[in-house]
Amino acid sequence: MMDEKLLEIKNLTIQYKTDNGIVHAVENLDLELGNGETLGFVGETGAGKTTTALGILQLVPEPAGRIVGGEIFFKGEDLLAKSKSEMKSILGSKIAMIFQDPMTSLNPVITVGEQIQEMILLHEKISKEEALEKAKKMLEVVGIQGSRHDEYPHQFSGGMKQRVVIAIALSCNPVLLIADEPTTALDVTIQAQVLDLMKKLKDEFQTSMVMITHDLGVVAEICDKVAIIYGGNVVEYAPKEALYTKPYHPYTEGLFNSIPDLDSEQDRLNVIDGLPPDPTDMPTGCAFHPRCPHAMAKCAKERPPKFQVGEGHYVNCYLYEKSMNGRV
Ligand code: SF4
Repeated sequence: MMDEKLLEIKNLTIQYKTDNGIVHAVENLDLELGNGETLGFVGETGAGKTTTALGILQLVPEPAGRIVGGEIFFKGEDLLAKSKSEMKSILGSKIAMIFQDPMTSLNPVITVGEQIQEMILLHEKISKEEALEKAKKMLEVVGIQGSRHDEYPHQFSGGMKQRVVIAIALSCNPVLLIADEPTTALDVTIQAQVLDLMKKLKDEFQTSMVMITHDLGVVAEICDKVAIIYGGNVVEYAPKEALYTKPYHPYTEGLFNSIPDLDSEQDRLNVIDGLPPDPTDMPTGCAFHPRCPHAMAKCAKERPPKFQVGEGHYVNCYLYEKSMNGRV
């Protein structure tokens, strides 16, 4: 069932208390993910992508970080009402996360086989021997010989380590996999291999996925839907094809214009003018207004709500206030 909701986030607000003031990392964010879908979560560094993911998992670093408001439903259950121990059992068995740097997830002094085995034993009532056999199979699934189960992380290359992390994440067959820039730390050819593997595994295991990235190329490869995030909020949400055919939000347009065109002789990239907002001092109204070439007086006053511009395609921008399909 592709359109049944798996994850639904409403009005999520997450803040960090710092010496420089309150960081408004995520502000009233709404988001949905259907069963079996892969959602690309795209934006610049500091836009709130990772914080949102940590919020879903209730891993926002405390005491500085805090979920100040909102709701997160996973398969209809309110995750924010769960206790720490309930969340712990959901993590891994139903939701798994892959981080950018595999070394933050792997323990350097435990063999890779034991690390996969440990994860399996946390969630499945099977013997150690059976779990080890399953761990070897998981290594094979991600393209590593099962016989290498007794090697340590340092004996593997960066791309292989990320494959081990993927094996750990998938070993309990989670319903939702959140991948935070999983290929950024790898070199380009390895990136392509890991992405191909994730695509294959997504189909094989029918796992839904949130793919956090700043790279529209990665989204084009693997995602069904895309949420563009700016200043801690989703500013455009659309099926991938619709977004790539016609991006509506001025920030999304800017992102697409800043992709280098290899056929063009132009030697300068069209970067978006201005700087991302300071999260301790967010602009009033639309967070993009200080950089927006189309900003109007009201843009600085009130935050634009969501307007529908096509089937399943929404944009938070006053340019689309009165029109279903085009600018006012
Ligand atoms: Fe630009 Fe206004 Fe739209 Fe914001 S709401 S993106 S400032 S036109």
